[in-house]
Amino acid sequence: MASKINAIRGMNDIFGDHAEAFDYLIRTAEKVMHQYGYHSIRLPLVEKTELFARSIGEVTDIVEKEMYTFADRNDESLTLRPEGTAGCVRAVIENGLAHNQVQKLYYTGPMFRYERPQKGRYRQFHQFGVEVFGLSDPQIDAELILLSARLWEQLGLENLQLQINSLGSNQARVAYRQILVAYFEQHQSLLDEDAQRRLYSNPLRILDSKNPEMRTLIDQAPKLIEHLDAESIAHFEALKAHLDDCGIEYVVNPNLVRGLDYYNRTVFEWVTTELGAQGTVCAGGRYDGLVEQIGGKATPAVGFAMGIERLVALLLDQGLVPAQREADVFLVLLGEQVTRPGLVLAESLREAFPQANIQMNVGGGSFKSQFKKADKSGAAFALVLGDEEVQARQVAVKPLRLEAEQQMVAWDGLIEFMQVHLG
Ligand code: ATP
Ligand code: MG
Repeated sequence: MASKINAIRGMNDIFGDHAEAFDYLIRTAEKVMHQYGYHSIRLPLVEKTELFARSIGEVTDIVEKEMYTFADRNDESLTLRPEGTAGCVRAVIENGLAHNQVQKLYYTGPMFRYERPQKGRYRQFHQFGVEVFGLSDPQIDAELILLSARLWEQLGLENLQLQINSLGSNQARVAYRQILVAYFEQHQSLLDEDAQRRLYSNPLRILDSKNPEMRTLIDQAPKLIEHLDAESIAHFEALKAHLDDCGIEYVVNPNLVRGLDYYNRTVFEWVTTELGAQGTVCAGGRYDGLVEQIGGKATPAVGFAMGIERLVALLLDQGLVPAQREADVFLVLLGEQVTRPGLVLAESLREAFPQANIQMNVGGGSFKSQFKKADKSGAAFALVLGDEEVQARQVAVKPLRLEAEQQMVAWDGLIEFMQVHLG
């Protein structure tokens, strides 16, 4: 036998329960998007490396050590997208979508980051992202939080905590940065390697450290939220008022800075304690400077991304994925002459009842074993076709869920007969 070829570490095949839950999540999220009037956008998986370096920030985990970057055959540096916002902004600019108009967009698909694979953290993972362009009012920040909350409600997900913070204006952050650097300089010996390196290049990133040994130091650091500019304070207060009005609970987490450089003002995360260390299932914020930073006209923007794998794990843990009925009708076929009429009958049913799930061809076997499968499929009816039925141009319709007798139905009358049950 030839040697086996395995998948890349951290890149998973998704099947069975996980695939069901995955699809259910996307379907439900798309319904919510429709409820709020958002539109789909489909974006490339690969972009120029520079796009990510310029938007996410040179001194971030993602750009420093997590990107899948390669030279293509033309020696251009390309990168598998580690997140969706940068590409979405690039697309909006390139296609003139943000010019004098509001865009409310969503997308879903795989993202790639070279991280240490563990529960809830993979090298290929999936996000469902939402971005809004052209609105600066805090009402839209609230709308994004509300639509994520509505998704949790529709999924029945519980125990998600909303954390919010404001990163203020760029000027406010520049002033705060000095205060923060001074604080960390006083505690140089407590900084880990990453923090040492970022002390002068990107000190705010230190607040985002996942190192538990840095916890106390970070908790006691001066808070950006206490150094905000007046406009950002008003923006943040208005956001909180909207959330209060709509009955959305939140906690203000002053250490929430997010792992990407492009945010300003509002940032938020939905966090659970039920997934261990990888507890953030949805994260986002405002990024008013980004469109201009990647070559567009200054345009306010705000967005978020959900981590699909983490939400799928929660849905499965909490038993929230509705069982799919495998089949409505199950064809039980056995005999020499049944193959051709069997397929024709199945197709005629599929034509007449496009909503119904008509199953056949799942392994054959004796009548007994086929009936067993029919029963397991959840189908309401088995249609039985043997050589005798073919001779008589009939099919036996056997109710599987009702206390009713099997009935012989002529092929010509089958659609009409099934109308009552499937129509
Ligand atoms: P974390 O702090 O967990 O590393 P992040 O701040 O890097 O997350 P974002 O870039 O904001 O994550 O991505 C949004 C969401 O995508 C995260 O909240 C998480 O649910 C999910 N996510 C991010 N990285 C991964 C990964 N490697 N594997 C699975 N899901 C991920
Ligand atoms: Mg990360």
